[in-house]
Amino acid sequence: MQDINLSLARTEEIMLPAAVAKQISLSVLRLDKIHPFVSGNKWFKLRYYLDEAKAQGKRSVVTFGGAWSNHILATAAACKINGLASTGIIRGEAPGHLSSTLTRAKELGMQLVFLNRDDYRNKKIPAAWSTGDHYIIPEGGYGIKGAAGAATIADLYSEKDFTHSCCAAGTGTMTAGLVSRSSPSSKIISFSVLKNNAALEEDIAHLIPIGKKSPALIHDYHFGGYAKHTPSLLVFMNDFYRQVNIPTDFVYTAKLFYGVTDLIQQDYFPTGSRLLVVHSGGLQGNDSLGKRTLIF
Ligand SMILES: *Cc1c(COP(=O)(O)O)cnc(C)c1O
Repeated sequence: MQDINLSLARTEEIMLPAAVAKQISLSVLRLDKIHPFVSGNKWFKLRYYLDEAKAQGKRSVVTFGGAWSNHILATAAACKINGLASTGIIRGEAPGHLSSTLTRAKELGMQLVFLNRDDYRNKKIPAAWSTGDHYIIPEGGYGIKGAAGAATIADLYSEKDFTHSCCAAGTGTMTAGLVSRSSPSSKIISFSVLKNNAALEEDIAHLIPIGKKSPALIHDYHFGGYAKHTPSLLVFMNDFYRQVNIPTDFVYTAKLFYGVTDLIQQDYFPTGSRLLVVHSGGLQGNDSLGKRTLIF
């Protein structure tokens, strides 16, 4: 497997016409560049879980996800690199045809176990994997260790260069990590990719140190819900690529960049704001779209 190259995760300023028109500077932290399919933020969220698994002498890691899960694929890759066995408990009955995500996870040595949706919802781990030999990582890497790992994303840029930091939220673990490293003067804006996820605020609050300011949560750009998309989102992805040459994924980062662009146009950010947008990767998930949907 190709190595993960953290030195490629740099910030770059982009000249997005919508931002230029409002005199707003826009920089993107390119976590998508560290690897072609090990999604940027997942790598960070996993690191301390894997350290703990090794410290406890575990040889095997078990985690959960859907057929297109960035977390599943990143876990498979990270376990391979760390010399750990991995098992992915996958939501739903075994399909006739594996998704490209699961095919890759399998190629990286992950054992796939399919669980029907009811058992999955109840996190019913099959008996063979619920023994003490296995280290369990929560779905999506949600948890204190995940947030601590995500906090190290903040080592890659200097917060004082920016007035606002923007990121996408699924479980909110990355958001919590960034909040834990933020100074009182900086604003963190987190764009939820789920529809009406009322639990997000509390989920994040559980992971951030006492005394830290809560992030602003934006719920308006889910485009129908988790992993859903609309024609206008796909048009945006192609336009955005034409304008600034940055590919996005339709599950997370396209909704983030769409939301940021829309809020810029609505004068949400004062003139002269300097925005950092975290491109958290996830591009491999675009393989679930039809071949000619995207121009990149
Ligand atoms: C998982 C993921 C997120 C969301 O991270 P959370 O910590 O679950 O909020 C954002 N972007 C991409 C590309 C992801 O894969």
